[in-house]
Amino acid sequence: MSGPFRFSASITPPGAAMSGPEAEERVVAAVVEAILGHRIPPGTRLVERELGKASGASRSAIRNGLLRLAQAGLVELSPNKGASIAQCSPEEARHVFEARIAIETSTARTLAERMTASDRARLEAFIEEERHAYEAGRMEDARHLSRRFHLLLAELAGNPVLTGFVRDLINRQPLLSWGSRDHKPRFCGNEAHRAIVAALAAGDGEKAARLNAEHLRELESELGAERGNTLPAGEEAASGAGAPAGNQ
Ligand SMILES: [Zn+2]
Repeated sequence: MSGPFRFSASITPPGAAMSGPEAEERVVAAVVEAILGHRIPPGTRLVERELGKASGASRSAIRNGLLRLAQAGLVELSPNKGASIAQCSPEEARHVFEARIAIETSTARTLAERMTASDRARLEAFIEEERHAYEAGRMEDARHLSRRFHLLLAELAGNPVLTGFVRDLINRQPLLSWGSRDHKPRFCGNEAHRAIVAALAAGDGEKAARLNAEHLRELESELGAERGNTLPAGEEAASGAGAPAGNQ
């Protein structure tokens, strides 16, 4: 659990290590992608040398990237132990979902008011792409699209500050499911997203916000049940039985 993590891909170019915002972004992207791909459990120590190899970034860029990750709640910095992937308690998980519902309720209402024909076409095309990914069993694509859907709604609502909050909260999502029994990523599914888009297309921001909140609460309760916080360690805790928003 606490051993150093080795990033699988090295993109270090020959020559000097990179610095500046682009290099920091590479550090952030390497860690976020490893977390989103469930390749890196909470508590894992992040070694500067490995981050350097994976990102090609200089030491100062790595440190700035780690600071940004810490601000987003993805990494914990300790004077003694250095950087490690953040742990997420059940209470923090609840706070993350509450925050997502609050922000995404706001962005859904705004988007319904200002949605253009082109936004609508883009969302409907997105839903079809997502459906194809599930139907073809391309679960890695489905995972990306699950995350992308909620970000896209925030982006189209037009407030970059709120979009940044949504991005940070979604990036923390994989940390929440590490308490679950199988450590597998959870997927939103296509149907909930389709219903949200239909409400937005009808200009009904209240309905879209309500459907989105219900969708997030279902994901939260699925994760909560699978963490086994309230269930005894028996077959009644087995995942899948009556799970409301499971993988498709
Ligand atoms: Zn979703």
